[in-house]
Amino acid sequence: MQTRPLIEALTDVRARIASAAGRGNRDPNAVTLVTVTKGHPPSAIEAALEAGLRDLGENRLGELQERVKQFPSGDIRWHMVGRLQRRKAPAVRGVAHLLHSLDSLKLAERLERTADPGEPPVRALIQVNVTGERAKTGFAPEELDEDMERLLELGTLRLEGLMTMAPFTEDEGVLRRTFRTLRQLNDSLRARFPEYLGEELSMGMSNDFEIAVEEGSTMVRIGTALLGERPE
Ligand SMILES: *Cc1c(COP(=O)(O)O)cnc(C)c1O
Repeated sequence: MQTRPLIEALTDVRARIASAAGRGNRDPNAVTLVTVTKGHPPSAIEAALEAGLRDLGENRLGELQERVKQFPSGDIRWHMVGRLQRRKAPAVRGVAHLLHSLDSLKLAERLERTADPGEPPVRALIQVNVTGERAKTGFAPEELDEDMERLLELGTLRLEGLMTMAPFTEDEGVLRRTFRTLRQLNDSLRARFPEYLGEELSMGMSNDFEIAVEEGSTMVRIGTALLGERPE
């Protein structure tokens, strides 16, 4: 439920991004705010659009497809941030501006196989399971070097960077290490693979985005801190 007007929450979140950027010696404008609207009614999206937000995120493909139908405006950039089932993967084309959750070689290969000739590449971030949590999907950091060679052969993917979800904890040290590891991993991939773009680091959610911004995030994915708790 919306607990306070979005405009107020947005002002607060933007101020916190700006101070975190300052602490990390970074330009706050280098951080894209993705508003995660999953589970919220269409009125929340209307409010977000009214507040000038244009980067919106969903974590389920079906919901994303619904949203795109409901809000067909070409100036909304829809981000797919949740797990994409291989079977349904091809449908992400044409609805998502950016796939944040490319989490396996099999998914990447499925996207490659199902591409029609001449189709624009799928813009994607490689999801990394930095802390190796069993409940999370994503590439293992120690295997990414090898997997990257294969990923870069897939001409229908445009790999723009990395994404991670930090463990659910309030331990700042753990959060900081997770985000820092992702950034370092990205730096080393960029150094090793000149053809890898690697400009984006999608990291940081409502409970940890300030640390993520201090550590180099270029995209924060925020739901609750902007829109309130998701309705049951
Ligand atoms: C739900 C979700 C978010 C936003 O979570 P909040 O804690 O509400 O900010 C970010 N990223 C992913 C992948 C999500 O599923």
